[in-house]
Amino acid sequence: MQIPLRTLSDVETYVRNREWCDARLSACPLHPTGGCSFARHGSYARVTPQGLRIARWYCPEGRQTFSLLPDFLAARLSGLLAAIEDSITVASSAKSMEAAADALRGPDVTLPGAVRWLRRRIRGVQAALAYVAPEMVIGAPASRSMPEIARADGRVLLGLRRSLSPQILNSIPAPLGFKPTSGTGWPRNGIGQHEMGPDRDIASHYGPLVCGSRV
Ligand SMILES: [Zn+2]
Repeated sequence: MQIPLRTLSDVETYVRNREWCDARLSACPLHPTGGCSFARHGSYARVTPQGLRIARWYCPEGRQTFSLLPDFLAARLSGLLAAIEDSITVASSAKSMEAAADALRGPDVTLPGAVRWLRRRIRGVQAALAYVAPEMVIGAPASRSMPEIARADGRVLLGLRRSLSPQILNSIPAPLGFKPTSGTGWPRNGIGQHEMGPDRDIASHYGPLVCGSRV
């Protein structure tokens, strides 16, 4: 299960300060009144951005891990929400999906692979935004438009991630929210599965504890 780690840091600051070490989850989300053996369970790395780790807890009784995902990070796709937003901006002004995918992914990725990569991002964001209504954004005056309300540092997705409650994020598809997007256009042949990473993987391999005594 993913839980937002509220932070105003950008990715560089988060990595430099090893903010995953100081992340806190005060109670088990499955047993908020206690009574289980809920405990910190180290951290795991994302392949990208390099050096980034995510704090993790585990409830043995509920057999569930809990990952604290920093606000700037995409859920179930590699990279940052801002980078996904940039990809969609490129796609919206390109001649074709193929031209946008080629420009974004470069010569090292086959064109069909690049197009799948881009389509996953576009579908994910479209599906997520279809769930979001202005009244969901905390403190939003009803008369203001969504982009106005949601923008943080010029970023719509980042603004929404920071504004929406954990409960609402759990009901919104990834990469904005945390809901698995199966059935909304994920490839069936397994291509791209590696991108979904250990966030979804309750039984993922548990990496070394890298925060020393603070783990
Ligand atoms: Zn528990």
